[in-house]
Amino acid sequence: MVKCREEKVGLTMDHKKLAELLFPGIDKTPEYYEELYPLRDLPDGAKVTRLGPSPTGFIHLGNLYGAFVDERLAHQSGGVFFLRIEDTDDKREVEGAVEIIINSLRFFGINFDEGATMAGDVGAYGDYTQSHRGLIYQCFAKKLVDEGKAYPCFLSEEEIAAIREEQQALKANPGIYAKWAKSRELTYDEIEARIKAGEQFVVRLKSDGNLDLPEDQIRRIKVKDAIRGVLDMPENDQDTVILKRTGIPTYHFAHVVDDHLMRTTHVVRGAEWLPSLPIHIELFEKLGWEPPIYCHTAQLMKLDEEGNKRKLSKRLDPELSLDYYRKEGYHPAAVREYLLTILNSNFEEWRLANPDADIDEFEFTTEKMSNSGALFDLNKLNDVSKEVLLKISASDLYDFLKAWADEFRPDDEGVKVMLADRAYLERILDIGRHAERNPRKDHIFADQMVKNLSYFFDETFEIEDEMPQEVVVHDEVGTVIKKYLETYDHSDDNETWFNKIRAITDELGYAVKPKDYKKHPDEYKGHVGHISTVIRVALMGRQQSPDIWEIQQILGEERTRERLARFI
Ligand code: GLU
Repeated sequence: MVKCREEKVGLTMDHKKLAELLFPGIDKTPEYYEELYPLRDLPDGAKVTRLGPSPTGFIHLGNLYGAFVDERLAHQSGGVFFLRIEDTDDKREVEGAVEIIINSLRFFGINFDEGATMAGDVGAYGDYTQSHRGLIYQCFAKKLVDEGKAYPCFLSEEEIAAIREEQQALKANPGIYAKWAKSRELTYDEIEARIKAGEQFVVRLKSDGNLDLPEDQIRRIKVKDAIRGVLDMPENDQDTVILKRTGIPTYHFAHVVDDHLMRTTHVVRGAEWLPSLPIHIELFEKLGWEPPIYCHTAQLMKLDEEGNKRKLSKRLDPELSLDYYRKEGYHPAAVREYLLTILNSNFEEWRLANPDADIDEFEFTTEKMSNSGALFDLNKLNDVSKEVLLKISASDLYDFLKAWADEFRPDDEGVKVMLADRAYLERILDIGRHAERNPRKDHIFADQMVKNLSYFFDETFEIEDEMPQEVVVHDEVGTVIKKYLETYDHSDDNETWFNKIRAITDELGYAVKPKDYKKHPDEYKGHVGHISTVIRVALMGRQQSPDIWEIQQILGEERTRERLARFI
């Protein structure tokens, strides 16, 4: 009598038999895989990290942010950083996605030591594509079933929806757990009959957790997160699905199995995974494995127009996509430098103390990472970029612009013209950059540079700004330029040149010193700045520009005279 009841509730279930029934084709043992993927032979303290993007073709700033942490942790410690393709969810997969991922990250200086590559796997811990690892997941799911720690579940969508409704009515915690996990109670014979009848099932973890206890009796798990310190959370109580109907693992199971077998020491991933951490901890426990060290990174946030912090969104923020930076032509060194400023709170201080040091000399630590939202700010990136580009030689900048143009502007005539004469462009790029005090920092990214420097080329030169009103109201633009041209000598040095401007200023009744004009506006028509602005607009089409004399030297005498002559 008693025995019969026990059988009914599954207590005497022959788990071994059940495991064979569910996984008849699995002949490898867990020990086989443990031996196939031995502990890595690395120096003490070496970290093994991985990036696990889904191959959707959309690679974003969050991926780069995480990859940067992975890369630094591994390479600073003499460890290994590998790429694993996480293609088990049903998200849209894009052909060539692996190539996109590898190339985008490589562009920003992130290189993998191991894992999926365009030419196949590199490394002894593969296969590195989750969809090729079906047999491995099944082997470990089988082990859990064999030990009574997982079971097949036949609940249909409708049944699950009905359970949810009942739970809502009773104000019970939602989900499939404990008494709600109806398939826990199936006998071997019932399971066998249903499988024979062609019914599909998922495999669920049989959780030991219980969150229905009074608050103070609920067991809690404590996990040390390298970024967040000790996390203290209620244990998992959900019979989480580990294998879907198709036999494909869920993220939870794939993560645990892969990171164990690939001997990952540090799992860097977004904070969106924090709520499922208790599931992962229970899975590691049930499989008898040591969990890795988790590093849950902060969400990337931005300030919107109203000054509110919000998550960067794929729909609203083009700057979330890594393509954005490549297309705009941000230099990878600038993006790296900027990312470090938001990744480690002590980086900027270090940079001030070590202005010329290689960025890789900075010791990156997870402890100095923010655990609330990391604020991403394009203006700040631009400021950082100005500083970084200042340290890159004109020749290297030329090469960078050329590579960018070849990829993103192959048919842009203006850009072609700009790149046609290397020596000419290098001189332009260097204007004012070597000044001891206040060197010019006006290069930010390729597209901006192209626009900013367009006036140096006749093909793209345009008058964009107006002549200064002070001169226009006196109808003297032509007169200023005529006088300027009459005295113009291309071989004048900067000082002689400027003295001539002063002479014209004085002769036409403008103040040689701007402050005199400000003090006595009635005594002058304007000041020396207005006179030179006339020359600026005629030569550059803009009211703002670097030093006129220097620009004339680069434009050359002929082009200078010709542009000026148009205004007479
Ligand atoms: N495939 C997961 C994602 O794209 C990776 C998370 C992880 O790194 O564990 O979010």
